[in-house]
Amino acid sequence: MITPEVKNNIQFSEKCQAYLTFENEYVKLYDKKNPRKLAEQKHAKKKLLNSDLIIKLEKCGFDDYSSKVEFCASNLVFSIQEHIETKDLRRRLKDANFCKFRFCATCNWRRNLNLTRELLNAFTLLEQIKGEVKYLFLTLTMKNRPSSELKKAVGELNKAFERMSKTKAFKSVVMGYFKAVEIIGSKTKSGEVHPHLHILLIVPKSYFKSRYYLSHSKWVEMWKKALKVDYTPVLDVRPIKPKRNLLALQSAVLEVAKYSVKHTKLVGLSDKDFKNVINQTKNMRFYSTGGILREMINLAKIEEELVILDGEKEELWREIYEEIYNWENGDYFLERINVVDDE
Ligand SMILES: [Zn+2]
Repeated sequence: MITPEVKNNIQFSEKCQAYLTFENEYVKLYDKKNPRKLAEQKHAKKKLLNSDLIIKLEKCGFDDYSSKVEFCASNLVFSIQEHIETKDLRRRLKDANFCKFRFCATCNWRRNLNLTRELLNAFTLLEQIKGEVKYLFLTLTMKNRPSSELKKAVGELNKAFERMSKTKAFKSVVMGYFKAVEIIGSKTKSGEVHPHLHILLIVPKSYFKSRYYLSHSKWVEMWKKALKVDYTPVLDVRPIKPKRNLLALQSAVLEVAKYSVKHTKLVGLSDKDFKNVINQTKNMRFYSTGGILREMINLAKIEEELVILDGEKEELWREIYEEIYNWENGDYFLERINVVDDE
């Protein structure tokens, strides 16, 4: 049972802790040449990346979305905090007017940060409860479809996955999973979409030597049956191994969190395909969890809260003042500072 006490006692390894601070919390606070300019450039870069999306949306008749994205994150409120022991300073995003449009580069970046952190928290906790586990990365595909059939095709994919996940062979080895939908591949032809699933599977430590081990051909057989097709669908399955300085669980998270619709790919679509993608992905769920991960990950929270990234010892940090930045001519500039009353 995962109680709040257990959650608060998660011990991160040093490497993992370093990774969790990937949002550059200890950034230089001010740009010496222009102290009014936001020194951390990530926010401006993501906002500028939206320029072509704004134009494309307007051109294709999505005026509402276009203006939503245009004003996304035009105000940023940061909390400047001091570590009560070390006296280090850090800047953390506290509030912003995010548009939450599915394909907004800024909002997707925030969603990805939260998703990565939530997954890492969950896997760390899982290994503390269950001991060592192994991770598999599974890619399930179907034949390309006309872009007008995107919604139907994703529905079929999800149903097929559900069917496969109920089989004895699947349930005997999979402890939990995280599933992400991707709709366009790197080589997808104009007029077509390539709906496929990227799935991170958690299996027992003994999986590769167990009698329940599933070979590539066995996975293909299972997927073909679940998808109810007469062709042999393309499928990839591989174990996730530690990479460079990362632990296996960190590699696992990076494998799955890096997938989404590529921004350049989306804005590069023909107008007809672009319209189909925007119209047919309304209310579509791109992420889901199953098994042991279902109770550990709050996907709704990730979708909604683009600011708060919890999971560390916040009580060690004290807010000393607030900075309010506005978007002006292609960059963020400081509008004012609010000093926090220390009572
Ligand atoms: Zn946005």
